[in-house]
Amino acid sequence: MSTANRVASRDGVTLVARDLAHVWHPCTQMKDHEQLPPVPVRSADGCWLEDYDGRRYLDAISSWWVNLFGHRHPAINAAVVAQLQQCEHVLLAGFTHEPAVALAEELARIAPTGLTRCFFADNGSAAVEVALKMSFHYWQNRSLPRKRRFVALSGSYHGETLGALAVGNVELYRRVYAPLLMDVLTAPSPDCYERERGESWAEHSRRRFEDMRALLERHADEIAAVIVEPLVQCAGGMRMYDPVYLSLLREACDRCEVHLIADEIAVGFGRTGTLFACEQAGITPDLLCLSKGLTGGYLPLSAVLAGERIYEAFYAEYAAQRAFLHSHSYTGNPLACAAARATLRLFATTPVIEDNRRLAAHLAARLAPLAGHPHVAEVRQTGMIAAVELVRDRTTRAPWPGEERRGWAVHREALARGVLLRPLGEVVYFMPPYVITETQIDFMVDVATAAIDAACA
Ligand code: PMP
Repeated sequence: MSTANRVASRDGVTLVARDLAHVWHPCTQMKDHEQLPPVPVRSADGCWLEDYDGRRYLDAISSWWVNLFGHRHPAINAAVVAQLQQCEHVLLAGFTHEPAVALAEELARIAPTGLTRCFFADNGSAAVEVALKMSFHYWQNRSLPRKRRFVALSGSYHGETLGALAVGNVELYRRVYAPLLMDVLTAPSPDCYERERGESWAEHSRRRFEDMRALLERHADEIAAVIVEPLVQCAGGMRMYDPVYLSLLREACDRCEVHLIADEIAVGFGRTGTLFACEQAGITPDLLCLSKGLTGGYLPLSAVLAGERIYEAFYAEYAAQRAFLHSHSYTGNPLACAAARATLRLFATTPVIEDNRRLAAHLAARLAPLAGHPHVAEVRQTGMIAAVELVRDRTTRAPWPGEERRGWAVHREALARGVLLRPLGEVVYFMPPYVITETQIDFMVDVATAAIDAACA
């Protein structure tokens, strides 16, 4: 076939061949595509993705947790199209535009109290870099240059750029690059999968906090900030913990004069049952990182929210050289801001959080039988995030040997049955768009169960 024909072709198979000739996919061993080629998506609608043969896949993971209100939502589509007619992009240094201003106003209004300043970036990892640099730089500006270290939790994930990777603690992503990464203090995760028999989530989270408390007290004078994923450590395997951990952490950070960075990139915008996960602990972090669902899953955008105290440490005569000079070309892109504003309007005009409660309860009820499965050690859930921990032996909780790739087998089996699941190791999780129906939840869980049975056979 000539190049012209191939380019013009709409044939799915041909598209895959073209893809494999040139596209290097993220988070993928490309050789795996010899067995399972990438799925060529022709169109998307609501919870569904459709390929060139008309096969449909339920997007049970919201396309890497970004999509909130379904694909091609009419209101978000219209907002992006309208913005396209006005201004597609302009730099945000020395210039400004209505979409960025209105979005910053709205985020300040809905975020935990006191987070009045909004610094835009263009993806989640960039937001984490911004927060780390801002915290470090704050202490420099406050003449406390010794405060330059960061504390993270075991099992945490904050992105792939070198700063974000350094505060991350998932070996799979981090190991190779370890020589390049800054030295970080690590406290044990409050992950409630590890709680003792009979221990509640709150008791376990409190107990685990003691290590964090000791670490903070010992190193307070050299720590800039603690960074956590509130309530659910997502990429680390949907590890969940009790809000009491965050309340205790807030108190300890205040006492030790250490910043608290809440990375709500994955858990923000309703995923955990409240608009922001921090609300469940009644706390305001010093820095709040947002991305993913911020634009409803349409366009890359992130924001770091800070309070006046941090902002003021940078506000000075130019000659004092205190400004935060971090920048990205697409910072505050108007199209992305328009998508974000339309997304936030949906929260304001529809009872999203209440509706999600009903959906989350339905999901919990439908997943409950899996808790008795011979290869399931735990079914856990926080709001609209649910996870099933697969093991070789449920009584001893002995894991499947990693090289057997049971999780990947679940992915393949589910795909063949029309559901996009992408287990993290052997943790099968569900993070669907909020427009999923109860019938679709039934289908999703039935397929997942069949896929788990097949993969664990
Ligand atoms: N923080 C958290 C908690 C995340 O889950 C992710 C992405 N999975 C990131 C940061 C990084 O975001 P991005 O992929 O947009 O760089």
